[in-house]
Amino acid sequence: MTYPELSLNKGSERGLLNGHPWIFSGAVATPPARTQPGAVVDVVDCHRRFIGRGHYNPNSDIRVRLLTRTKTQPINQDFYCERIARAHQLRLDGDLPNRTNAYRIVHGENDGLPGLVVDFYNGFLSIQFHTWGMEAARKEILAALAQVLPSKGLFERSDVGTRRAEGLPDRPTGVLQGEAPPATIQIEECGVPLHIDLYRGQKTGFFLDQRDNRALLQHYARDQSLLNCFAYTSGFSAHALRGGARRTLDVDISSHIVPAARQNLTANASPNATSHYLIANIFPFLEHLSERGPLFDIVVLDPPSLLRRRGNFKQAMGIYTKLNRNALRLVRSGGLLVTASCSSRISAEDFFLIHQRAATGAQVESRILHSNLHASDHPANPAFPEGRYLKCIFARVLR
Ligand code: SAH
Repeated sequence: MTYPELSLNKGSERGLLNGHPWIFSGAVATPPARTQPGAVVDVVDCHRRFIGRGHYNPNSDIRVRLLTRTKTQPINQDFYCERIARAHQLRLDGDLPNRTNAYRIVHGENDGLPGLVVDFYNGFLSIQFHTWGMEAARKEILAALAQVLPSKGLFERSDVGTRRAEGLPDRPTGVLQGEAPPATIQIEECGVPLHIDLYRGQKTGFFLDQRDNRALLQHYARDQSLLNCFAYTSGFSAHALRGGARRTLDVDISSHIVPAARQNLTANASPNATSHYLIANIFPFLEHLSERGPLFDIVVLDPPSLLRRRGNFKQAMGIYTKLNRNALRLVRSGGLLVTASCSSRISAEDFFLIHQRAATGAQVESRILHSNLHASDHPANPAFPEGRYLKCIFARVLR
């Protein structure tokens, strides 16, 4: 099988040779002839030496996303079977299946399948096709999934912003294979039962990447009061309640996830614990509360990305700092701040700086106890910094 060829400008292959999977528009010397968005192309250097093979999209600044660096490897159903099986094995080899029955099986670029996400929720799969390339390979991918990962049902959630950046329309959500998932699927995450709404939840249904941080919170929660900001379906509170928290207050702007959140709070609270869920915009809410109190033993801050791809870095640093300063003001002396950022353009070092500035602004001292990345089912390719997005700090607050 031969593929159309795309040649690179002199020297533009360096990042690729170091393991990065993307080719940007500025690196392209000659585009492939007569090629549709999503087609597979061969990438060659200025001497026509083979570099790799990947999905092409002339409408995106990311022109090619590499699938393989092996010249003899055709991109067909067998390729997808092999890659999905390899990704699945990576999840089975560690302690993950002992701790949970919900995890990411395919994590895009980081599993050598750029633009494809597949999450497993206790027997059901939830899938996202982010790119033209993966959309064009839909048939092979679905056949490969049926072969390698038989499930009760496969549900599509390709209603994602990244598709719009690719020039792809949203797709209606729905069942692609097998039975329709129930209104909420019950999973178990490190001993904590949680309800996941695949239909109305964000992303594929849940934020699996924060699993280890939610589980870690259990160990700090006994008899504590918790303010859980950007709560979504109350995952952090559910773990805290399991760990013996006596009071939780969850705040989120979105009301459609409240039924799942309520199920999660009820399933994990002991009879003498209380939990409340408030629909509010966190930014003014925290501003208001930080001036008046009350103080909490633990504050969790897990915002959506506050720095979009072309956003203003300095401005985002300022917003994160103010948000974290207001949160720190609400932690009692000796209490805990759990703070996260999922912006890949905010590095771990940037996030430490945000935390330090926020502590100075709130006039508190901080001692960082844990500084974590995503859970192990979101493996990171060291050559692909864009794929390392989640940072989470647990810090003791001292006055
Ligand atoms: N902590 C959650 C995940 C949070 S995702 C977990 O462990 O599962 C981010 C959440 O922030 C989403 O639920 C979104 O609805 C909420 N959100 C976004 N902007 C907000 C705002 N201005 N105020 C309150 N919540 C907001």
